Amino acid sequence: MSARVLVVDDLVPNVKLLSAKLQAEYFDVVTAFSGPEALQKIAASPPDLILLDVMMPGMDGFEVCRRLKADPVTSHIPIVMITALSDSENRVRGLEAGADDFLTKPVKDIALFARVRSLIRLKLTSDQWRLREKTSQQFSVLNENRPIIEERADHARVLLVEDGRSVVDRIVATLAFDEDTLTVAATIADAIAQIDASPDFDLVIISLLLAREDGLRLCSQLRSRESTRQIPMLLMADEHDMNKVAKGLELGANDYILRPIDRNELLARVRSQVRQKRYQDRLVANYTASLSMALTDPLTGLFNRRYVMGHLERLVNRSGEHKKRFAVLMFDLDHFKRVNDTYGHAAGDLVLREFAQRITRHMRNFDLAARIGGEEFIVVLPDVDLDTVELVARRLCGVISGEPMSYNADGGMVPITTSIGMTIAGEGEEPVADILKRADMALYRAKRNGRNRVEIELSAPQTGNGSESGALNASPETPPSA
Ligand SMILES: [Mg+2]
Repeated sequence: MSARVLVVDDLVPNVKLLSAKLQAEYFDVVTAFSGPEALQKIAASPPDLILLDVMMPGMDGFEVCRRLKADPVTSHIPIVMITALSDSENRVRGLEAGADDFLTKPVKDIALFARVRSLIRLKLTSDQWRLREKTSQQFSVLNENRPIIEERADHARVLLVEDGRSVVDRIVATLAFDEDTLTVAATIADAIAQIDASPDFDLVIISLLLAREDGLRLCSQLRSRESTRQIPMLLMADEHDMNKVAKGLELGANDYILRPIDRNELLARVRSQVRQKRYQDRLVANYTASLSMALTDPLTGLFNRRYVMGHLERLVNRSGEHKKRFAVLMFDLDHFKRVNDTYGHAAGDLVLREFAQRITRHMRNFDLAARIGGEEFIVVLPDVDLDTVELVARRLCGVISGEPMSYNADGGMVPITTSIGMTIAGEGEEPVADILKRADMALYRAKRNGRNRVEIELSAPQTGNGSESGALNASPETPPSA
């Protein structure tokens, strides 16, 4: 797959030159000759990277950059600003507008390709998370869509790997401006020790001018370890070290700054990396939270219908191989509507929570409970025989009816009972829907036969004669009264 690069410049020769260079390296190149044309092309088909001229008549590069970085739809696309001006004021202006880097005309190939490749690689990683977040948004309540530029970038934890005292002092003074916490390590071993002691650094600044060591070794080590793979790395080097910088970007460094270090440029680059890191952290956290929300019932903390269906599919497939039986118990609280109607929905919620807790307390830790509807629950018990599961079902029925449930904080109690339909599966190949249908039939019979009881439905082929369906003498100790 070749990455798509958009080249934007008002001068045709500039566009042609950059396009030719990129095409020679097998990039897929798109061109635009003005700010508005660039915005239009990006909206129609977003590229993986934008090389953006600063000086253009009408809408200049800063404005194009600002617009793209403020829009959640395009804020993740890396932008490299290209200018004839090499003064730091313009660099910083670009970085503040959200640009990911700056290249000065005439653009040197080594700097161009090192930057383009590294930014595209970083984007592809973050695209994966964005994709997952988008997927998880489809079934979650999380729907944050803040662009990167709005992430907070102050109070960062920064590790500086540098052995030159004067450089250290200068950077310490610079970063104090945003109340960052700066830790200094003079050797690679020290840096690793600091990271192991507390891995949640927002950024590691690595000098490529250490007296006795090669800073690239640290780059490589941090990227190869799972726990440090995501920490952004900013390289510090001399201008004649561009080969090393290119190597560092290839190893996974996120950005670089050249000496003599300009205070404002350093601040802008640090902010940009911290912002990226926090954005990525947020994507990962959202994804994890959405995932757990997607699979659990928020009221009871039990698994939800989606999860238990997947679980049953896995059990059916597994039991096909190992011929192990499992039981499915389907619960429906008796006359639950009356609880809601009499005491209100908050009371009903308390009862459902208490129900879930009682059931879970009496399960083995490899049994699984799920809430599959308003007052409907399922318990799946793997590796059981009929006698055991009979006992379990009867016990669960008694656990619910045995003591009334609290429905408010003032000591209000209400008697609750449940009907249980039970079936056994796993001996042969069988669709999950058929298993559930059987459990449902048993549940229906439990309701019809007076509630607060267990009924079992076994399929004819599994039992040999199909006559084992019937009541299991649930022996209700409390009469159904709610
Ligand atoms: Mg121009």
